[in-house]
Amino acid sequence: MSDIFVPKVVFVTKSAISYEACEKLVDAFREAGSIIIRGSPRLPRGLDPRSKYVRAKSIVVLSADKSHSFLRCKPSADFQINLVRGCPGFCEYCYLQTTMGPAPYIRVMVNVDDILDRARQVCLERLPEETTFEAAAVSDPVPVERYTGSLRAAIEFFGREGLGARLRLVTKFTDIDSLVGIAHNGSTRIRFSLEADEFHKRFERGMPSTGRKVQAAKKLAAAGYPIGFLIAPVFLERGVEPYKRLVMKLRGNFSDGLPDDTTFEFVSHRFTERARALILSRHPDTSLPMSEKGRQLRTGQFGYQKYVYPRGELRQVKQEIINTVREILPEGRIDYFV
Ligand code: SF4
Repeated sequence: MSDIFVPKVVFVTKSAISYEACEKLVDAFREAGSIIIRGSPRLPRGLDPRSKYVRAKSIVVLSADKSHSFLRCKPSADFQINLVRGCPGFCEYCYLQTTMGPAPYIRVMVNVDDILDRARQVCLERLPEETTFEAAAVSDPVPVERYTGSLRAAIEFFGREGLGARLRLVTKFTDIDSLVGIAHNGSTRIRFSLEADEFHKRFERGMPSTGRKVQAAKKLAAAGYPIGFLIAPVFLERGVEPYKRLVMKLRGNFSDGLPDDTTFEFVSHRFTERARALILSRHPDTSLPMSEKGRQLRTGQFGYQKYVYPRGELRQVKQEIINTVREILPEGRIDYFV
């Protein structure tokens, strides 16, 4: 996948047309070469699940978000703030497999100002408590940012408003130049999602390498953003060695030290029955470890059951990886390992 994402088609829904921002978005996508169609998104009939999945990920849908509340987002933040939903990537384990339905179009919200107004209200109600929003809970918002500017608007909003409000986002993409040089006031943390090389090659085909993501992270750190690395998913099938190598690689890339206040988050691999069925229909040749053997069933934060690594095994690997980070990258801070 090229660094620059150009959607093949952009659908402009009825809910989006009345917003002033819609016209600008349409112009930006048209200029990039996307075909613009008015109406609800649709795909040709008779596509198999994989073709449907692939086609949908090349389509952007301009919509308005009319919801009045923000969903919780543990452990990364207090709430989700969804300016975009979906992602053009094809990571086989993607956590969005189940949440985006059979046709995971990339939905771009045209009413960013309304969403930020609602965020302001929530922050005011929670004062003096600090409120953190995660902008990548149901998307990777970076590939469409060059057209939307919605992250920029949110970053400037959180930088300007105070209110004990913070923004976080995580990405696997490197098209971040438009986020450099804007007034973030240190209120937004941008993290890059990394994977051990051998799993990156197998399960994240076409996505930027660790080296490219580190270069992008350095650029943002030089622009004054707090940065971080989300290592996810952590697969235990090959033990800790792949992740030790990843930590060593980071050390090599930051031989003069990590930028101040660099954070680490770790999320171990998990899957639901529904995700497994969807992944197998979209990636029939996948070698993702998705056997229930060697896993335990656990109930997740939204009440669904998922297969996780057994507690004892996870505890041991977690400790080894944490020890490695503390030894090799002692200036980094580990926020959580789940
Ligand atoms: S980059 Fe993230 S959101 Fe996009 S396909 Fe990969 S895992 Fe899913």
